[in-house]
Amino acid sequence: MRLTFLGGTGTVTGSRYLVEHAGARVLVDCGLFQGLKQLRLRNWEPMPLPAREVDAVVLTHAHLDHSGYLPRLVAQGFRGPVHATACTRDLCGLLLPDSGRLLEEEAEFANRHGYSRHHPALPLYTEEQARAALDRFVPHAWDQPVEPVPGLKLRFAPAGHLLGAASLYLEWGGRTLLFSGDLGRGDDLLMPPPAAPAAADVLVVESTYGDREHPREDPLEALAQVVQRTSARGGVVVVPAFAVGRAQALLHALARLKQAGRIPDLPIYLNSPMAAEATRLYARHHAEHRLSPQDCEAAFGAVRIVATVEESERLNHLRWPSVIVSASGMATGGRVLHHLKAYAPDARNAIVFTGFQAQGTRGAALVHGAPAVKIHGEYVPVRAEVVELPGLSGHADREGLLAWMGAMPAAPSQVFVTHGEPLAADALRLAARERLGWDCRVPDYRDSVELV
Ligand SMILES: [Zn+2]
Repeated sequence: MRLTFLGGTGTVTGSRYLVEHAGARVLVDCGLFQGLKQLRLRNWEPMPLPAREVDAVVLTHAHLDHSGYLPRLVAQGFRGPVHATACTRDLCGLLLPDSGRLLEEEAEFANRHGYSRHHPALPLYTEEQARAALDRFVPHAWDQPVEPVPGLKLRFAPAGHLLGAASLYLEWGGRTLLFSGDLGRGDDLLMPPPAAPAAADVLVVESTYGDREHPREDPLEALAQVVQRTSARGGVVVVPAFAVGRAQALLHALARLKQAGRIPDLPIYLNSPMAAEATRLYARHHAEHRLSPQDCEAAFGAVRIVATVEESERLNHLRWPSVIVSASGMATGGRVLHHLKAYAPDARNAIVFTGFQAQGTRGAALVHGAPAVKIHGEYVPVRAEVVELPGLSGHADREGLLAWMGAMPAAPSQVFVTHGEPLAADALRLAARERLGWDCRVPDYRDSVELV
């Protein structure tokens, strides 16, 4: 079996791993590159093999850095099945068309305002192409064996990162290749912990937070404090949040804080049509996460869901303390950009990040203290307080990753550390050697290895 790293190397985005076995080709994850321009340009590069020669795609989870290239692959001729858990399929049903719509809007905006160097700027794919990709999905239950191509068995195990998020076991000829997928944490507000890993000969493990520990203090307290401070200043809290997963965790956290009287009874707006839909999906699939139907009702019932563009625009002129949760989570696009334009210049306001901010995104610039960020072609000064709350992230930290790896019944014979920026991936490689005695490799983009 041959494994080729077509993304998720040196970055947390663009996860794509090509598995070749007995003449068949399976693509594990089909993600978008995001962040730095040199990475985003890879979305436009042809894959090393024609899309129609990929026999099947398997997705670990629905986040766009794992699924968002799929519409492009289908548009280029991929005609095989896309295997995923049922929840991943449902979430992709929201995320992919939304992604296509955003890409179209961005291209259209760039053309209208003439700030793209491409004439005309074209979207990577359209909403219609994204909808066409949804027809290829084949949903599966947890732990049920699937045979995506002859001679290869596949099984999904819960990874605790997001609704439907899975680790993948691929088995062939008595050997097992395990993809961790994005791993959640033991103490997530929303998701149960990842399932303990079973034995595997080869492991591909993520390293998003491979060089970091989440703060040990109560993440709700840190959130409560920033909301209190900002409302005492008469300001607005803007939370760029991944529409799927983190937005729901935040709404739950804010509802709990309000109920306990730890933050004022201020309005909370959810301004992302997709996040609102995803919230309904979380409420429907409550057996898959920690929140009871009552928790869902409390968390999602108290929030003001912003439906129309007019309402969204009105949110840019709030004159009382409020919280606005809006996508995208790394401030790379979406409605949150308009709120950042409106609220970043005023020191009374706060911008709160809860998820990982990939290099090259506006989110990373903001958490690193940029005095201004470029939005829609113009520089917006940043005087608002910028706060990072990694304690509310949906990813395991270094200790969590090592604990999960260390729970394997035996050391795999080959370990590849992926899905991390260079320092994070290398830090996890080193920690795994020191703590577990494992010899891991951090692959480069387009590296290809024969699995032994
Ligand atoms: Zn993810």
